[in-house]
Amino acid sequence: MRKKVLIIGGGMAGLSAGTYLQMNGFDTEIFDLNETPGGVCTAWKRGDYTVDWCIHWLVGSGPADSFYERWSELVDMDHLEIVDHEEYCRIEDLQGNQIHFFTDLDRLREELLKKAPEDAAKIDEFILACKKLTLFEMPNEQADEVANLWYKMKSIWKVMPFLGTLGKFSQITTADYAKEFKNPLLRKAIHNLFEPEIPILFCMLMLGWMHKKAAGYPVGGSLNFSRRIGNRYAELGGKFHPSVRVEEILVENGKAGGIRLMNGKVHTGDYVISAADGHSTLYEMLDGRFLTPQFQKFYERGVTFPSLLFVALGVGRTLHAAPHSYLFELPKPFQVDPETELNDLYVRVHNYDPTLAPFGKTLITVMMETRNHHHWMKLFQHEPLRYEAEKQRIAEQVIKIIDNQLGDVASHVEMTDVATPATIIAYTNNWKGSFEGWLITPETGFRQLPNTLPGLQNFYMCGQWVAIGGGVPTVMLSGRNVAQMICKKEGKKFEIVKPKTGKSLSEAEF
Ligand SMILES: Cc1cc2nc3c(=O)[nH]c(=O)nc-3n(C[C@H](O)[C@H](O)[C@H](O)COP(=O)(O)OP(=O)(O)OC[C@H]3O[C@@H](n4cnc5c(N)ncnc54)[C@H](O)[C@@H]3O)c2cc1C
Repeated sequence: MRKKVLIIGGGMAGLSAGTYLQMNGFDTEIFDLNETPGGVCTAWKRGDYTVDWCIHWLVGSGPADSFYERWSELVDMDHLEIVDHEEYCRIEDLQGNQIHFFTDLDRLREELLKKAPEDAAKIDEFILACKKLTLFEMPNEQADEVANLWYKMKSIWKVMPFLGTLGKFSQITTADYAKEFKNPLLRKAIHNLFEPEIPILFCMLMLGWMHKKAAGYPVGGSLNFSRRIGNRYAELGGKFHPSVRVEEILVENGKAGGIRLMNGKVHTGDYVISAADGHSTLYEMLDGRFLTPQFQKFYERGVTFPSLLFVALGVGRTLHAAPHSYLFELPKPFQVDPETELNDLYVRVHNYDPTLAPFGKTLITVMMETRNHHHWMKLFQHEPLRYEAEKQRIAEQVIKIIDNQLGDVASHVEMTDVATPATIIAYTNNWKGSFEGWLITPETGFRQLPNTLPGLQNFYMCGQWVAIGGGVPTVMLSGRNVAQMICKKEGKKFEIVKPKTGKSLSEAEF
């Protein structure tokens, strides 16, 4: 008889676990708060515009990295149009000086040496490390928990030539590494490559992936990509329950055997996987009963990715010449909330994806990070008028700044949308409104949190709250790993059923 697996959360991790388990003869059901699968890898419609929220770059978008093989197990990657940007980002100071952070590492070296010759030695160190890491492949075929000795030895062997580079650059944060550059604009550029707290190694890996065209942008955007995986899950017989909240994981005799929804309905199964927010899984759905000192320490002291104010503008004109990814200094600080002041603004001009705006028009989005989710939740719950007024203020300020920077935008704005940390909490349930779970820091390293809990059988966790650092491919892999672990427990050989190529993987509504 086929075993049944209940999966809480239909983000990329839950979809991945479900899809691989369906390939291996399990009956799975996914329960999610939202109407559509994808979790934070999503987009929403505002008028004629599609507000794309998530994917800036997808590791494994091209065959030069082995993640491409993993994605190809789930969807037909050959039929996905990918944009490999020439520039990762453009950075500009108040005087109009710019650095083009090219994705081609030779071009980038030339640009950096031209703009910051005083940093020649440091630039060479940086580029050399990025280049070396283009050859590095993260082992991603077998989960540690199921890997055989031969695979483990092969993985160690493959990692050995990189140990020096990995060791050196995983110990220093991006912020600290940036301080080693003398040129102020280059310092700003390095500081802002990703989150300043993460090891510079992560940024080097990212630039390496981009250089070899393995971290591009999938045309159609984030929801379109999630839908492809959602469609595959459905094709394999998986069942998605939209718009339901799981409140409790049912445990009997130390075994997880079901879930209770907010509407009181109970579903039973042989296994339960939580691919949902980690805090609510451990502290609410399991009522804190199976916490380990390791998890407790993370939830007390671990650093999460911040939350966001996310502004989308639909602009009734083309902006072909504008940089698609643009960080510029502001003439005066922008007070986002009482605790958050920005000195730079990060803007995405989605001029590379015609599917997100009508012909001749452009979607612009702005990500502003904040850790003050309490403030936004308080306004949302207790002062709705002030909440709306604050959203309005943020939107007006952003339009003014962008108009000033890009020219002739304000009079063309025909759609405005502002998401706050309260929006993120409502739609994703993610702890503190974090947009990507746990940050990788030199203290966490690149390891993962456990997928299982001692004392609780038949229960697994996957997704960005155990796969430290989050990211679409990482959580996909974490779902795959859990599927492998369940197969092993059931004495089944883990099988891959490749998707049919071409039209059967349509972008049809899920
Ligand atoms: C703005 C932004 C930009 C990003 N950019 C990139 C990028 O360029 N490249 C990249 O690789 N990654 C990027 N990421 C990160 C990446 O998208 C995430 O790490 C990854 O998609 C997380 O997937 P997940 O399945 O672990 O979690 P989630 O997507 O959060 O999925 C969890 C699901 O669980 C559901 N859920 C929660 N609680 C319950 C409950 N009680 N009952 C039922 N359902 C519940 C939620 O609704 C959600 O759908 C970005 C993320 C954001 C937000």
